Amino acid sequence: MAEFTMELNDEQREVRDWLHGFAADVIRPAAAEWDEREETPWPVIQEAAKVGIYSLDFYAQQYFDPTGLGIPMAMEELFWGDAGIALSIVGTGLAAVGVLANGTDEQIGTWIPQMYGDANDVKVAAFCSSEPDAGSDVASMRTRAVYDEAKDEWVINGTKTWATNGGIANVHVVVAVVDPELGSKGHASFIVPPGTPGLSQGQKFKKHGIRASHTAEVILDQVRVPGSCLLGGKEKLDERLARARERAKASGGERVKNAAMATFEASRPAVGAMAVGTARAAYEVALDYAKTREQFGRPIIDNQGVAFQLADMRTRIDAARLLVWRASWMAVNGKPFTAAEGSMSKLFASETAKTVTAQAVQILGGNGYTREYPVERMHRDSAIYTIFEGTSEIQRLVIARTLSGMPIR
Ligand SMILES: Cc1cc2nc3c(=O)[nH]c(=O)nc-3n(C[C@H](O)[C@H](O)[C@H](O)COP(=O)(O)OP(=O)(O)OC[C@H]3O[C@@H](n4cnc5c(N)ncnc54)[C@H](O)[C@@H]3O)c2cc1C
Repeated sequence: MAEFTMELNDEQREVRDWLHGFAADVIRPAAAEWDEREETPWPVIQEAAKVGIYSLDFYAQQYFDPTGLGIPMAMEELFWGDAGIALSIVGTGLAAVGVLANGTDEQIGTWIPQMYGDANDVKVAAFCSSEPDAGSDVASMRTRAVYDEAKDEWVINGTKTWATNGGIANVHVVVAVVDPELGSKGHASFIVPPGTPGLSQGQKFKKHGIRASHTAEVILDQVRVPGSCLLGGKEKLDERLARARERAKASGGERVKNAAMATFEASRPAVGAMAVGTARAAYEVALDYAKTREQFGRPIIDNQGVAFQLADMRTRIDAARLLVWRASWMAVNGKPFTAAEGSMSKLFASETAKTVTAQAVQILGGNGYTREYPVERMHRDSAIYTIFEGTSEIQRLVIARTLSGMPIR
């Protein structure tokens, strides 16, 4: 097990500087344009693919860094560049992780390359779990997958929503109900291969922020996928369902309910790191501005009212990064999250991003309120962090339940 460290080693520093260069030279200059266009920035994803930032290899390398700092460091730098473009670059990772976590070696080898494509023909992937009536309450999911034994095919029907890259993805990973009696324990994940009939894009959302990232509904109408598209395979699913049924019987036949609370604990620090990146970007703009903008014959930072805000902003950002790094180190080293440290890091970092970007807008005054300066966009972008991968309220529920052992509602 690696010791917890707050010091990047030489290799990590090199990777960080390389990512920072890409974020500063390629992502940041393109940010305003793609935010206005509200479209997937394919040319930027392609640039990332060319230099090796858009690939499973790169993320796997960071993920397996035993210090746990690889992923948070990468996320912070890319999202420092721009949140919408960075999500377009890392969004495929959500679906890839779904396959890595549950898939067989064969499924990993077959589908993950198709999720990324290559530098000449980049592709994206989508992870589709949320539904119109199943957001925080994942257990109320309705999309249904039924096994057609005669054809060894699964038939999937339902409507997914809020899917990043939904409808434009080459490969969709879809979570569906296979046993409605078991709540979230009766869910399974499926690959929907490119061009499968019955899968279509519904509404594409016009969003408040991260507008360079495509978010849409995904409609599944009599979608048939081969048995081999069930992640993990049928045998493993049957065993898991049998165990869940036993447990449900032991608990008096009560429907197994799980409001997505304890899951994702290990992936949440990565979202916290994205929020740290946006917060740091806004703080840096505000600091520069405060040192150069003069009113009443002196730089505005000469006023404690402004300087203290900057002091608080930086303090919160550093505290958020420490929580993120701790949780990420714990996740990589298999430390149990006895105080929901993953949720803590996401909660604090995402709230920090919202607060800090709002302060940055204030420090820039009228300029902060315009699209001439990037803090306006960063402030809009920051609002997503307290919503996706579990809202702030759900993080608090997870933390409170973990600390108390009580079924707090
Ligand atoms: C831009 C964007 C991208 C996304 N990408 C994806 C994706 O790629 N794949 C995917 O599957 N999903 C994705 N999501 C969905 C996201 O994870 C959900 O929006 C999120 O889980 C919240 O669900 P909801 O929107 O239905 O809100 P709801 O669950 O309806 O919550 C509404 C409000 O009620 C509060 N609330 C709900 N339950 C409780 C409770 N028990 N206690 C206290 N407060 C509560 C919430 O905190 C929130 O403030 C994305 C969402 C967005 C906006």
